[in-house]
Amino acid sequence: MFVVLSLKKLLFWLLLAGIVLLAVYCIANAPNSGAQPAVSYDLGELPMLIIDPGHGGVDGGAVSVNGVNESVINLDIAKKMELMCEFMGFPVLMTRESEELDYPDDCTTIAARKRHDQKSRVAFINAAENAVVLSIHQNSFPNSKPYGPQSFYTNDEAAQSLATLVQDCLNEALCPEKRRVAAPVAKSIYLMKSIDYPGVLVECGFVSNKREAALLETEEYRLKIACAVMGAYSQHIFTEDEIG
Ligand SMILES: [Zn+2]
Repeated sequence: MFVVLSLKKLLFWLLLAGIVLLAVYCIANAPNSGAQPAVSYDLGELPMLIIDPGHGGVDGGAVSVNGVNESVINLDIAKKMELMCEFMGFPVLMTRESEELDYPDDCTTIAARKRHDQKSRVAFINAAENAVVLSIHQNSFPNSKPYGPQSFYTNDEAAQSLATLVQDCLNEALCPEKRRVAAPVAKSIYLMKSIDYPGVLVECGFVSNKREAALLETEEYRLKIACAVMGAYSQHIFTEDEIG
């Protein structure tokens, strides 16, 4: 019952964001009556959301207590987010769409392939215009106790604001009893430190925690995560630009 109600609540947020988007669009495109619209938002100026499903190819990322690669969970959540973007009319790109990745012939070692992949993603992101990056990952820890989502932001005010929204929505949706706060991303994360745009790395949960790993391996929980992150992103793009 809890899951069903929470999911309804999250879908409500998304629906609400959709209604706001439609209302703003209608106001902005209404025949000129001489009055200024209350808010003006040009859909053409929405940022490009680049969703980065962490790892993939030779790099499975962390492995859950049940033996599931983090990369698979990341991709599924990212694809759900991509679908929601398409539904909402938000411009979106993905750094990968599959678990299989192509590597040049001279990348023969796992380390070289990982390096190539990371550099390719950074080049892909930095070639975009007016982008925002959401990098989706799962956490892991040597002992099984830690659980719950955490978001990290690049050295950027907009990224911090988005990470805070993401964290709040995930806390509310997934574990209201354990309210982490968004934190600066570690300087060791190559992709996050190399991108030219605001970026938020979302550690959706701990695959090293038995209970959370089992949840992360279900469709429902991944949908819940995607809804919460997209709810946060919707709030972000309308408070960042439209107000200005
Ligand atoms: Zn990861």
